[in-house]
Amino acid sequence: LERDRLLAEKSASTARLARTLAHEVRNPLTNIHLSLDQLEPELTDEELKLFTDIIRRNSRRINTLITELLESFKPQETVLSEVSVVELIERALSEALDRINLKKINLIKHFSKDCRLYLDQSKIKIAFLNLIINAIEAMEAEKGVLTISTVAHQEYFHVIIQDNGVGISQENLNRLFEPYFTLKTNGLGLGLAATLTILQSHHARVEVESELGGGTIFTIAFPFSEK
Ligand code: ADP
Ligand code: MG
Repeated sequence: LERDRLLAEKSASTARLARTLAHEVRNPLTNIHLSLDQLEPELTDEELKLFTDIIRRNSRRINTLITELLESFKPQETVLSEVSVVELIERALSEALDRINLKKINLIKHFSKDCRLYLDQSKIKIAFLNLIINAIEAMEAEKGVLTISTVAHQEYFHVIIQDNGVGISQENLNRLFEPYFTLKTNGLGLGLAATLTILQSHHARVEVESELGGGTIFTIAFPFSEK
């Protein structure tokens, strides 16, 4: 039964990915077709440049989408070792420090007694970094408060990343982890999809609490028993 459920989930997520990709490729493809339709011998140099630029940009976009898709399916070897979770948070934070300082974000840390778990340290660091960067990007300069806490509770070690940024509407909360879902003009929408894959491969749970205008809380629960 568990196996059936996993298979059903897998085919549902494959279908979702196919739909998203079809949609993502169709947009730039439509732009290319529309520009091609405009190509006539009477065009001025300026118009010609405009349409060929659109074609070039949009075909590059399709190429990038395909490259990312292939990357995301590459089987990536998991290298487990016993590591300090707090140390991984600190490493992710140090990579985000420039952005934190540039935006004058108030960083608050509440770390419980540290915990060592069997994890793929480079992947978990990336997962933390993705969540931290999203939090930074959601907050207004000089007004942002980023709170990172750890709490050991029952069988889980919790890492909580909280911001007081723009928040997420109920409707968008459901789509957050879909590949290519983004509300940013220059976003790729792959950060949370990758983060979810990484955390699931560690049997960790992720929960999001958010409200439009009310900030966001991401909670990751790492099981202690995972070896
Ligand atoms: P990207 O950051 O490239 O847009 P992500 O997968 O990292 O892609 O995030 C997807 C979307 O989820 C973001 O575009 C944003 O709208 C929303 N989001 C993620 N984290 C937060 C957050 N902490 N606060 C508000 N919105 C968020
Ligand atoms: Mg992101």
